[in-house]
Amino acid sequence: GLAKAYQERARLNNELIDMKGRIRVFARVRPMVGDAENGATPAVHVPNPGEVSVMLPAKAKLGGSSATGKLRPQTFAVDQALDAKCGQQVVYAEVAPLVHASLDGYNSCVIAYGQTGAGKTFTMEGVEGDRGVVWLAMNTLFARASEAAADLTYTFEVSILEVYNDTLRDLGVLETKPLGPGEQRQTLDVRLLPDGTTHVAGLSRHKVANTLDVAKLLRRAMSVRAQGATNINERSSRSHLVLTVHIACVPSHNVGRARVTKSKLVLVDLAGSERLGKSGSTGERLLEAQHINRSLSLLGSCISALRAKSRRVSRRAASLSNQPATDDSHIPFRDCRLTFVLSDSLGGDSKTLLLLHCAPTLAHSQESACTLAFGVRARGVSLGPATRQVSAAAKNSPYNISLPKPAGSPPLR
Ligand code: ADP
Ligand code: MG
Repeated sequence: GLAKAYQERARLNNELIDMKGRIRVFARVRPMVGDAENGATPAVHVPNPGEVSVMLPAKAKLGGSSATGKLRPQTFAVDQALDAKCGQQVVYAEVAPLVHASLDGYNSCVIAYGQTGAGKTFTMEGVEGDRGVVWLAMNTLFARASEAAADLTYTFEVSILEVYNDTLRDLGVLETKPLGPGEQRQTLDVRLLPDGTTHVAGLSRHKVANTLDVAKLLRRAMSVRAQGATNINERSSRSHLVLTVHIACVPSHNVGRARVTKSKLVLVDLAGSERLGKSGSTGERLLEAQHINRSLSLLGSCISALRAKSRRVSRRAASLSNQPATDDSHIPFRDCRLTFVLSDSLGGDSKTLLLLHCAPTLAHSQESACTLAFGVRARGVSLGPATRQVSAAAKNSPYNISLPKPAGSPPLR
């Protein structure tokens, strides 16, 4: 019953992918985990596959001292809502079309968003015996490459980048010597190439041919990330992780004019979206919180601006068929390194999936509501002041970036 309904919805979503402007916003509610949540009342529900409902403490009356203890539900519309019963395979079924698109030469991007503990890493990496998006996607890539081997030869190279306090660090190479006092870790920078793609200078790429290669690389990334961090879990909740699969495809029988496609599949595990800076944060924590808030807010601005833009373009294409369906509005990609790195995976002809994550308990329902509100804003549904601010900010941006072209030549048919 339910599984069938989800399958049907996945099919419809895929058909609608172009009409919806190639950016879709999903929500996943994780199950109760651990002893602390044992027997807790669930506060986040999925009443239907297009909505998530969150129980929130009713606002205290004016002059009242605290919350009244009453709860009221608030509902958020998403492209697809996945409840706690949906396992990794159900989530991956939604991601798979993007993985296939990346093999066909399109840039694709999957972004996990949510507060710390909401299940982002579970979705992206998963656990031993219940693997997540990264593994399932790599399996798809390897399987399709071997199916196509008679006609097409695919090569896959993986790079792993950490974005921390607006600096970039390569997690693909082990640092050989420990840092001396006052010494800085080597950071990388990102630039825009003439062909419209972004390039992180010096970021290592590692050829992978099977999941064993991927496992080795991920293990190394974990240990590099842990270097200099007092607590690896803390570090991972304060930094963004960007795993890029560079996909190249050439005909297996090279007959002169070989056409090559190059594309990227980008899988992002974002820093925790909880508001660390609410009160009392000072020093390093405050700086981290400011960088996280700014980068996530800019990411939301870019996504909503892209969505609005693609809607304008498709409206124009539908109504004025002999006018070019172009739109040269600017997206504020360059305002931080996270969005700059992702710009060629978000813009142009690429497909993007934003996966919102919610913890199920009442204790976290306010953060869950913030996460879902971010998603709603990213969908560009609300046309309130926030959206107008976005375009004003884009207009006033010192950078004048038009949408990057998709990487490489048109996909092979
Ligand atoms: P985040 O990366 O957002 O901080 P995690 O992915 O680390 O959160 O999840 C927190 C805990 O909840 C982990 O122990 C993880 O294994 C567990 N968990 C998260 N999502 C699920 C899920 N869908 N099913 C089962 N356990 C989950
Ligand atoms: Mg995590």
